[in-house]
Amino acid sequence: MQRVLVTGGAGFIGSHTCLTLLEKGYEVFVIDSLINSSLRSLERVCEIANLKNKLNKKQLFFAKGDIRNKNFLQEVFEKSIKVGSPINGVIHFAGLKSVNESLEFPLKYWDMNVSGTINLLNIMSENNCRKLIFSSSATIYDASASESLINERSKINPTNPYGSTKMVIEKLLEDLFNSMPSQWKIINLRYFNPIGAHPSGLIGEFPIGLPNNIFPSITQVASKKLGFFKVFGNDWPTHDGTCIRDFIHVMDLAEGHISALEYLEERQPEIRNFNLGTGVGTSVMQLLKTFQEVNNIEVPFKFIDRRKGDIPKVVADNSLAIKSLKWNPKKDLKQMCRDGWKWQKLNPNGYI
Ligand code: NAD
Repeated sequence: MQRVLVTGGAGFIGSHTCLTLLEKGYEVFVIDSLINSSLRSLERVCEIANLKNKLNKKQLFFAKGDIRNKNFLQEVFEKSIKVGSPINGVIHFAGLKSVNESLEFPLKYWDMNVSGTINLLNIMSENNCRKLIFSSSATIYDASASESLINERSKINPTNPYGSTKMVIEKLLEDLFNSMPSQWKIINLRYFNPIGAHPSGLIGEFPIGLPNNIFPSITQVASKKLGFFKVFGNDWPTHDGTCIRDFIHVMDLAEGHISALEYLEERQPEIRNFNLGTGVGTSVMQLLKTFQEVNNIEVPFKFIDRRKGDIPKVVADNSLAIKSLKWNPKKDLKQMCRDGWKWQKLNPNGYI
């Protein structure tokens, strides 16, 4: 049986991926500092996967700690052997993800994301574990490019410190691979805009503090936790003047990680980059309209000025992932809106 270390596995994408891993029969070892999450997400994962809350018993293990702490990471690799088997591969979600916060606190982002990843790679290497899936982001692509769809060869040029950390980690992984090309198996998954939640409504996204991402902002206005939804600009060169993004259901994204793991298991060592998006562009107003219609709820909104650094359109060419990973996003925008609202309604205060 494959045992996968999931860093940041208590977070939004991590918890959904842990569930999918368990359902596919993997053993999962999560590490998380819980800086932006709660252990309850993993208790809920156990509940959905019918593990009867047996965290740390057989299939799902958890250790609280920070990836910047090398001793902690080494202990995790040793503990995994003590509790049955070594770690065979790593899915690396742990890190900070707010573009705006990264502009204000670049050192914090470089430390958390880059130093943390360097520690992780050192400890992986020392423990002869050289299979890695890294959470990268569409933020790394060149914002000024005018292509209609972004593919993996599109120009890279992030415009904020968060994106720079993702770009530099990809570069670091390339250097690492080139230093030992017969050893490392690495996939960088470049996510577009993950939204929605597991259809049970038991796990979902609940950022600590004010939401930075579009979807939690909508759901928190819908549940009257926030007064109105801010639409940043209505004068963009798009069909309705609002920005266009590629929203992808978080369960489809989670499936993408399983496909990536299976791909690496079957292949010789290599390093690959894949876009994970639907290839469908949706404007902010279309998202808002669909959310209101399918959930029969009103979401007050206001147009405000464009946000610094935003760009009109970011949509994935996902054909490489579809072809190589044999993966296909299945859930449409309505499903994303339904599932995301169900999670918010059932958990108005998140996991508290
Ligand atoms: P999240 O904040 O919900 O999850 C990240 C998890 O990592 C959290 O549980 C947090 O507590 C943990 N963490 C943070 N720093 C840590 C550290 N130093 N040591 C241990 N744990 C730490 O975020 P998410 O939306 O699930 O994103 C997961 C990954 O995907 C991140 O790397 C993010 O940059 C990337 N990503 C996210 C999006 C998105 O829109 N959500 C888009 C592209 C890429």
